[in-house]
Amino acid sequence: MGKHISIYIHIPFCIRKCRYCDFLSFPVENHDLNSYFNALKREIREETETAGRTADTVYFGGGTPSCVPPRFILEVMEELRKKYRITEDAEVSLEMNPGTLKDDGPVIYRDAGINRISLGVQSLNDVTLKRLGRIHSAFDVKKTYETLRTAGFNNINCDLISSVPGESSTDLKRSLDGIVAMDPSHISVYSLIIEPGTPLYDEYKGGGLTDLPNEDETADNDLMIINTLDAAGYERYEISNYSLPGKACRHNEAYWQRKEYRGFGPGAASLVGHRRFTNTRNMEEYKNKPGGILAEDIHLTKREEMEEFMFLGLRECKGVDKNDFYRAFGHDITDVFGAEIEKQKEKGFMEEGSGRYFYNTKGLAVSNVLMADFIEA
Ligand code: SF4
Repeated sequence: MGKHISIYIHIPFCIRKCRYCDFLSFPVENHDLNSYFNALKREIREETETAGRTADTVYFGGGTPSCVPPRFILEVMEELRKKYRITEDAEVSLEMNPGTLKDDGPVIYRDAGINRISLGVQSLNDVTLKRLGRIHSAFDVKKTYETLRTAGFNNINCDLISSVPGESSTDLKRSLDGIVAMDPSHISVYSLIIEPGTPLYDEYKGGGLTDLPNEDETADNDLMIINTLDAAGYERYEISNYSLPGKACRHNEAYWQRKEYRGFGPGAASLVGHRRFTNTRNMEEYKNKPGGILAEDIHLTKREEMEEFMFLGLRECKGVDKNDFYRAFGHDITDVFGAEIEKQKEKGFMEEGSGRYFYNTKGLAVSNVLMADFIEA
């Protein structure tokens, strides 16, 4: 089988920028797609370090990979197949936004081997969608979703955003119920983060966003989401991710379990051996020297790897395995993090069972604060 690798492909184009977005993406109409995809394919072709490995997950993220002609996706997959052994049962995901599925999309994506779609629904409320600056309506969501299902795509994730200013709990619940009624295999729910440099942030700073949900409302919404999805048969397997049995996203699990991955495209990050590196985010630099200019190149120390093991692994509801820690680092987990683990157990955030440490619901709710305990000052 050889060594495994997960592959990420960045497609940095969108129809237009959403009001909350700080991802690396450019308006698609302003770009020469041929020159971008030639650079991307060149980066794959010139990769040597991970060449020949077995790839069991491939993820096209963005941006909006579905806003470029589907033939580009097919060409990238063909290039990847020359470089890697992509397994028969590989999970091959593509991010899509409602209203961007081209007529030839379903057939070409199938030919390319895409078998999982992650649909950026975000809300089924048109007022909320508008406030977020999304390009689509609730009607577009349902239309795109039905087209995908009719074409035989059964492994679909729907993303939902919570904590949107001005959105009531009733509206949020209505969107969630609407998504559940569509019967996707996976649902991700993220809280809106108002990032500096975005139009939403400017509105916030200018005093235009006064109807942000407070802490209690956010906590109530989070509980409502957990309970609604549990009642509908979705298992929470990570802070923000829920799936029907057996449908957890294997690609994201690979990140949380610190498996090696190789990212292609501007801004794409890789973890290979003890090295974490990220391509330049500058499009012109990337096109001139794809994969040759790095924004970050870090050789991780053993201590840093152990910290990552904890704060990534604890994102998953099943938590971290004591034996895995010993196998990876040759130390007992309690010799390294015993004090932090005990403190979190005593406070009622962390539990222990079946050779694992994991956060309970109370711990997951504040996990971003708790995880800081595992990082050396
Ligand atoms: S679709 Fe996603 S990547 Fe594109 S602008 Fe909106 S949030 Fe950003």
